[in-house]
Amino acid sequence: MLTLRNLLVPRPSSLPAFLPGINRRYTVHSTVSTKPFTRTVLDITRREPYWNLIPVWKDVPEADFLDYNWQVSNTIQGKDKLAQFLYTVLPEELAYDKDAAEPLRYLRTRDMFIQDVLAGISIAPMSIRITPHIMSVINWNKPLSDPVRRQFIPLRSGFVKDHPKLQLDSLNEEGDSPTPGLVHRYHDKALFLAVSVCPVYCRFCTRSYSIGAPTEEVTKKKSFTPTRRRWERMFEYIEQTPNLSDIVISGGDGYYIPPEHITSITERLLNIQHIQRIRIASKGLAVNPSRILTTDDAWTQALLDASAKARKMGKSVALHTHFNHPNEMTWITRLAARKLYENGVVVRNQTVLLRGVNDDVETMKSLIRMLADNNIMPYYVYQGDMVSGVEDLRTPLSTILELERNIRGSIAGFATPNFVVDLPGGGGKRLAGSFESYDPATGISKYVIPGKGGESTERVYEYHDPL
Ligand code: SF4
Repeated sequence: MLTLRNLLVPRPSSLPAFLPGINRRYTVHSTVSTKPFTRTVLDITRREPYWNLIPVWKDVPEADFLDYNWQVSNTIQGKDKLAQFLYTVLPEELAYDKDAAEPLRYLRTRDMFIQDVLAGISIAPMSIRITPHIMSVINWNKPLSDPVRRQFIPLRSGFVKDHPKLQLDSLNEEGDSPTPGLVHRYHDKALFLAVSVCPVYCRFCTRSYSIGAPTEEVTKKKSFTPTRRRWERMFEYIEQTPNLSDIVISGGDGYYIPPEHITSITERLLNIQHIQRIRIASKGLAVNPSRILTTDDAWTQALLDASAKARKMGKSVALHTHFNHPNEMTWITRLAARKLYENGVVVRNQTVLLRGVNDDVETMKSLIRMLADNNIMPYYVYQGDMVSGVEDLRTPLSTILELERNIRGSIAGFATPNFVVDLPGGGGKRLAGSFESYDPATGISKYVIPGKGGESTERVYEYHDPL
């Protein structure tokens, strides 16, 4: 058994082999080629129409792609629409993909791929919703290993049996809810769950127990539906709890909170004397950046207004977003991030560590640098939560330890994220390296957490590596 006390933390023998070679600035895996290249899709001056690589969008002009309504009406939703889309975008024969997980390599035709996707959807905890922006940055000549495809489109052959300790609500959020939709786990912070829908559905979502449409596998608990009566009870709890100073408005995704509700929720919270900081959690900037640039978009204006109002009050309304791979960022993303920066909106990023997506040093470094260079603060890298149905995307704890060991010190300290584990069972976020013990052979790590709210007893929380 390894312990922090004796500082014996040898390099585990099961560490993954990190991918070699991508170390030039902004040089990452191509969306259109199997070789790394410098991504022209990041160049604001070239404004490359990268969506024109998708056959059904080959003639779509820039003005349409930049329009939020066009993005929403062309979002792929549900398995039938996805199958139709895949039929148009995939080559009839799939090239051998040496980077794909071994069980996927036998999928050598378009039909086999689509059948495997449909079988994957039937056992997945999340339904399908994917924006044109995301569909346009997937390399469809290499779909088996593409890091963006892996996050949103399941393949049955890639599924790995659940670890026996996995749960749907792995963080026990319902257990820390004083009133439905409000999670109060930390002394001074609470989570205000305002909606249960998102612009995309991520396979690995921590809240798969509640987010999105029901799937064949999961009947969703609709506890975050936006009802004023539920919100009123949440506001009352916050008003009556003076130790709270920090509120995260999430769900679901803040992009799908109607603009008038962004305004009313932030105003109500800002007017509570003890609330100092509000964060709106939204993956929108990463998956549908066009919205931020759409002229007169009411949601964007509501965000800018809330942020400006908070600054005048000496408080803050920030945006917390969620990029996992450098390929998700294009020139549209950069322009959108620039607009937020110019208007004084603080943007922070929370990445989830995912196998085959960002679990190698160079990809994670590229992502962190790219975020920092676009004034998006790299805030957290999370160890994958122990949620059911996505075990193929989870890494052992040793991976995040190794990433931090390689990255810390190579990027400015204020641009280096915290590498954390959100402990199953409600232990909260802890630095991944702060474990009391970690045995890579059994895959069990233990974290000792001081008692909450003045409790004197410590509690031990365990994280389990994939089997
Ligand atoms: S956007 Fe966030 S809340 Fe929505 S599915 Fe993805 S991870 Fe879950």
